Amino acid sequence: MRDLTIAIDGFSSTGKSTLAKLLAKELGYIHIDSGAMYRAITLYAIENGMLRGSEVNEFELIPQLDFLDIHFEFNPQTGKNEIYLNGENVEERIREMEVSSKVSIIAKVPEIRDYAVQMQRKLGEKSGIVMDGRDIGTTVFPNADLKIYLSASAEARAIRRYEELLKTEHPATYEEVFRNISERDLMDSTREVSPLKKAEDAVEVDNGQMTPQQTLETVLQIIRERFGA
Ligand code: C5P
Repeated sequence: MRDLTIAIDGFSSTGKSTLAKLLAKELGYIHIDSGAMYRAITLYAIENGMLRGSEVNEFELIPQLDFLDIHFEFNPQTGKNEIYLNGENVEERIREMEVSSKVSIIAKVPEIRDYAVQMQRKLGEKSGIVMDGRDIGTTVFPNADLKIYLSASAEARAIRRYEELLKTEHPATYEEVFRNISERDLMDSTREVSPLKKAEDAVEVDNGQMTPQQTLETVLQIIRERFGA
């Protein structure tokens, strides 16, 4: 089978990154979590006082984007491409609630999206990539070989995220997680630039009742049927 470009989109906590990581491992591809880029920029903005409440200081932040060093390095221990911000591994810090609660504010700024999309396209120049996010099949790689749109109820997604956070040093209550997911759903699907929506040629997979392994199997089956393997 030739190397493919695979786009995985969907609402928060539908298991996009988990699926993308497992799929990349199975196929020997690289996995890029595009949300991690928006999260890293958000962390930078918070740390440098450019985000107050729901206001982002675009005049200060946008000119600094060109000087940010955001890149991924594969960690064989976690089997994951982890994100670095100006030389520091911030993979865990970008998942904290403070970042989660602000990231959709950052992600709706058109110049920030342009910057992230450019980086994502560069990373996708070579095929053999699985990228997950909100606009991968619609904007970043509109010609992707395969587009998967993951869905699950807000409750199922909140339980998953809550359980994930319980394993970290920064847990949150179920109510906080549910509220955050619902707010991001709304912001991500109603923003002006590249709102989250299912690409016309995407295959929707509702994995509310599936384990990560079952979701992987479902997508591998689609790949076998379409591309042979
Ligand atoms: O995927 P994750 O939940 O980590 O993404 C964090 C946030 O980044 C999303 O809620 C969304 O606001 C933004 N995002 C985006 N476009 C992408 C990936 C993420 O707007 N391709």
